Amino acid sequence: MATDWDIRARGSSCAECACEFKDQQSCFSVLRFTDEGYVRADHCEGCWTGNPPEDRGVSMWKGIFLVPPPPAAEPLAQETAETLLRRLMEEDAESHADVIYILAVMLERKRQFIERAKQTRDDVLIRVYEYRKTGETFLIRDPMLSLDELEPVQEQVVSLLGGGEKPQDAESGEVPSDLSKGETAVDENGDDNGGGLDPS
Ligand SMILES: [Zn+2]
Repeated sequence: MATDWDIRARGSSCAECACEFKDQQSCFSVLRFTDEGYVRADHCEGCWTGNPPEDRGVSMWKGIFLVPPPPAAEPLAQETAETLLRRLMEEDAESHADVIYILAVMLERKRQFIERAKQTRDDVLIRVYEYRKTGETFLIRDPMLSLDELEPVQEQVVSLLGGGEKPQDAESGEVPSDLSKGETAVDENGDDNGGGLDPS
């Protein structure tokens, strides 16, 4: 059985014509759920508009390809929400489900994650996030925390981050205390509505 948690990198070239994406180029992504789990495909604009796939999958969206930044010269001294999220997903996502979800919500509030889709499978809600910086897709299980359950998890996140980064970040001053998903992130160019894209 496919795991609920997963990270899918954005391709550096078109799934159809194999042309290499250039910096700032528009690309079109489709996420499909198959027997092997989630499969992601990225297409250049020409291929997408010329021959839009019939199978639109779980989600499809238009994004901007950014050349990945070079690896940091110095190893990061402090764990950030992003590095902690990656580490927990890699190590043992099952037993850190609550913390992983709170970290994903934090990153969404900080506009580093964009929610691209939601999918319910076997009564489990999976949220599909895209990490702006790299275009990676993060598949995160929503543990459906109640308000009572939320506080201890937030405290756990603060202690795991070692005070280096708190859920109440200086940037937004927001704590992910309510888990309502009232707002949708919009890309810088404003044409990114996170789904429902008309390929024609
Ligand atoms: Zn192409």
